[in-house]
Amino acid sequence: MLTIPTLSLRDYEPIIGPDAIDEIRVLASRIGKRRFQNVNSTSVGGGVAEILTRMIPLLQDVGIDATWDLIKGDQAFFNVTKAFHNALHGKPEVITPEMLDIYRHTTELNLRDFNFTGDTILIHDPQPAGLILRRSNAGRHWIWRCHIDISAPYPGVWEFLLPYVSRYDAAIFSMPDFSRPLDIPQFMVAPSIDPLADKNKELPDSFIHSTLEKYGLDPERPIITQISRFDRLKDPLGVVAAYKLVRRRFPCQLILAGGGAPDDPEGEQVYQEVLRESGGDPDIHIINLPPFSDLEINALVRGSTVILQKSIREGFGLTVSEALWKRKPVIGGAVGGIRLQVVNNITGFLVHSPEGAARRITQLLADPALCRTLGENGYLHVKQNFLLTRHLKDYLLVMLALDHPGQDIVYLD
Ligand code: UDP
Repeated sequence: MLTIPTLSLRDYEPIIGPDAIDEIRVLASRIGKRRFQNVNSTSVGGGVAEILTRMIPLLQDVGIDATWDLIKGDQAFFNVTKAFHNALHGKPEVITPEMLDIYRHTTELNLRDFNFTGDTILIHDPQPAGLILRRSNAGRHWIWRCHIDISAPYPGVWEFLLPYVSRYDAAIFSMPDFSRPLDIPQFMVAPSIDPLADKNKELPDSFIHSTLEKYGLDPERPIITQISRFDRLKDPLGVVAAYKLVRRRFPCQLILAGGGAPDDPEGEQVYQEVLRESGGDPDIHIINLPPFSDLEINALVRGSTVILQKSIREGFGLTVSEALWKRKPVIGGAVGGIRLQVVNNITGFLVHSPEGAARRITQLLADPALCRTLGENGYLHVKQNFLLTRHLKDYLLVMLALDHPGQDIVYLD
């Protein structure tokens, strides 16, 4: 059972202003009562679940009948789709005919009892992409929403998915670089964070301090933090390597905090690798977080000096906007959607190696004023571009655009 909070667009007015709120309401009123069904493969862990948890209730508040359903899959299926995920991000993966059969078989099983209720159906990522096979007898508009950087996929998986994707009415990618040659319309919609969520809201200093204490951190010494699932593409070992270089000059501490996701079977293995690599250093804090640790994640980020997102491949990396919103300077791998959020030298630094990350961490630890400037810029950048309300507006625009095929301009009056 999915737990969806209740949200009200009105509550965002102090952040985005009355005009932006009115604009959203006007767009929503043009769409009218619409069943907008979202489908993905997990309700917890990872950015897609994070966004849907907040997007669905906000859509409902503006009068859209938004729903969220999950496909089912066993361990074998999620092993296959994790390999798909890695390969689409460009990581070499062996994809066997048997794996493709597992994908087809699980798709068939889901199709057997899946209830398609939407007028507009938004299918997130490759796991449920095959549901499009049912398009002849359900739904008005089918949209495939890709959260992955598929600009340079490792051969095999994209070719397999293409016949499915081509049957959709449209595809949505997180940034222009991710688009692929397709015969269907493509929309660019960046992901977003919710400033009012527990993950992002303001916290009392006392809670931040008690959270640091709980995990044995010293608030008097700098803290470098990466919040991520334990996934090789997030490069946790590169983070440890960077920390070890910095540690030679600064008595700092490292937090690597993250949990798993039910659709990511590699987490435990990577977690063990990171534990081994940290070699018992008491200033490395590897924190395995249970789901719904939002307040603690918020506090750990707010209590940190510098945030890392040293991914070697990335879809968007919500953790970057989450940190920038808290006015933290971010050092990010120069990949995927991190490049939208970390504007080099303005909101943080983009890096290509553990050595590069170490150099930038050292620079920031030595210059608190620079940390403040980058953090302030980051906050404004997120406010302008990566809040849930902008994302909501983009989804409404996509629905309107699909209601008016072939029209470059849609008049609202
Ligand atoms: N996250 C979390 N708990 C964890 C690790 C991550 O709640 O243990 C959240 C994180 O704060 C962010 C999302 O999960 O909101 C991860 O999204 P992102 O786009 O950064 O990466 P993904 O996991 O989707 O690749």
